[in-house]
Amino acid sequence: MSIVGAIESSLMALFPCRCAGCARLLMRRPPLGLCPACTEVLEPNLGSRCLRCDLPSGEPLCLDCAADPKAFDRLRAPFLYGGPIVELVHRMKFSAREDLAAAVGEALAKDLSARALAVGAQAITAVPLGHRRRFIRGYNQSAIIARQLAKSWELPYRVTLKRVRNTQAQSELGLAARRQNVRAAFVATGPVCGRILLVDDVVTSGETLSAAAYALRQAGASEVFALALARAPRPE
Ligand SMILES: [Zn+2]
Ligand SMILES: [Zn+2]
Repeated sequence: MSIVGAIESSLMALFPCRCAGCARLLMRRPPLGLCPACTEVLEPNLGSRCLRCDLPSGEPLCLDCAADPKAFDRLRAPFLYGGPIVELVHRMKFSAREDLAAAVGEALAKDLSARALAVGAQAITAVPLGHRRRFIRGYNQSAIIARQLAKSWELPYRVTLKRVRNTQAQSELGLAARRQNVRAAFVATGPVCGRILLVDDVVTSGETLSAAAYALRQAGASEVFALALARAPRPE
């Protein structure tokens, strides 16, 4: 082992934390799990946006929402999906980094636009994974984010939904196929009431959140607000 390798492995033993974006060694876990250099290049989702789905849009409603409103009332995603967020989400899902999901929850809890959605919510809930994916991964990253938010904001966390069939990974599909894929993918586990805050990690087309919100409405929710870390641009 080289000197550098030896130093690195002893540092790892002392400070077993790496930036979730660039994998550089860190002395302590930073907000969002990202080092200052990665944090600096994050793209906040702050410009003119669709009032319903938070997609960057010059109009009050984006083309999708104007043509076919989503089942959720509002969505907030404080960041655009890209740069270090891609690596962060990948590690959170596929590298057994449950700690990153908790870090995302902590960071979202401090975001004022996210906090505003939680005001008046009866409960915080998460988009569930299918049994197979939950079994393979060992945890649901969205549920960890949601539980952290509930703890920070002193709101009840509830499991309200289950997937009724394993859907194909949304990232492999085009827009029309995504809609078909998630339709009727969720059912509520029991009745709900009032406003529910529904949490997911990343929003792509918004169809998954919409299908989950639809199931919550069917179970009695009067409003469904949705919250995610990041928003992907509209898929072609
Ligand atoms: Zn970094
Ligand atoms: Zn929209």
